Amino acid sequence: MNDFMKEKLNLGRFPTPIERTKCAEEYDVELFIKRDDLDEFIGSGNKARKLEYLLYDAQRLSCDTVLSAGGMQSNHCRATAYFSKRLGMDVELFLFGEQEVQGNLLIDKLLGARIHPISHEEYENVMQMMNDRKKELESTGRKVYVIPPGGSNAIGFLGYASAVREISNWEEKHTNFDYVISATGTGGTIAGLEIGKSMYDEKFKVVGINVTKRSSSDFNKKISEELQKFNLRYEAHIKEIFPTIVDGYVGEDYAIPSSKDFDTIRELALKDQIVLDPVYTAKAFKGMLSMIDKGEIKHGSQILFIHTGGTFGLFAFAREISKFLR
Ligand SMILES: *Cc1c(COP(=O)(O)O)cnc(C)c1O
Repeated sequence: MNDFMKEKLNLGRFPTPIERTKCAEEYDVELFIKRDDLDEFIGSGNKARKLEYLLYDAQRLSCDTVLSAGGMQSNHCRATAYFSKRLGMDVELFLFGEQEVQGNLLIDKLLGARIHPISHEEYENVMQMMNDRKKELESTGRKVYVIPPGGSNAIGFLGYASAVREISNWEEKHTNFDYVISATGTGGTIAGLEIGKSMYDEKFKVVGINVTKRSSSDFNKKISEELQKFNLRYEAHIKEIFPTIVDGYVGEDYAIPSSKDFDTIRELALKDQIVLDPVYTAKAFKGMLSMIDKGEIKHGSQILFIHTGGTFGLFAFAREISKFLR
């Protein structure tokens, strides 16, 4: 293992289980789900893996305050608030959207994170806002660590690079995957999977289902920029990576689920007792099934879908979902 892979905290319970599902039985594929929704409780989901590396770095730099940003129901910000507080650091979150105290926001508040509500327009420049706040706090003697939205930078990438080792270990005892599929929000999960794939010599195809209005080419540009930083920082030599990012499954907009997404949630809950979230995993799961249906994912494939968490976000949609439950 590369030494930089060890520069982490142990925050989650890893390896997470890989379970076989019944819900793809009507298709000619084998579908497994990696339960990263089970990697913690209050800190659960894919951000826990990234935060093991990011918060290690914050501690290495003796920081006492962590800043991050996202939507009001950001899973990333909730996990950041939780783990940072556990490590004794203060947390400030820059959040856009409706301020209903529910789901993730409720937990942020319970944990005592300081919330800066901002507008959608302000969010465009949120890195600048956080850097200004960092300067302000540091002028009073604090030491501040800024985590970008989704924890998706070169350091955060290591979270899912190391998850590939878990996948490889599982494959040795069971079966090789043809595809590893995840929702894509800021791109750090699939970028990490691609990096891990090249580090551990894996052959599976990484597919990210885009649940945002950003285009896949925009993601690829951002990922290759961060990859250069990654190679510099860790003296690695990872060539260009090309995760397949699939557009067309966001629906009306990011964080706006449709009745079809609620159907997907209900179907998996009924068949496999696995509960997806309406912002990321339901859209990605639905997208994956549609790709299988259209033959874009080959028949006979062994597929691993990563359940990236988001369970608390479900509660912020309780009213909308209840309309679809009979
Ligand atoms: C953040 C998040 C994602 C997206 O992961 P990225 O690394 O940002 O692409 C997917 N699912 C859930 C539940 C998330 O919270």
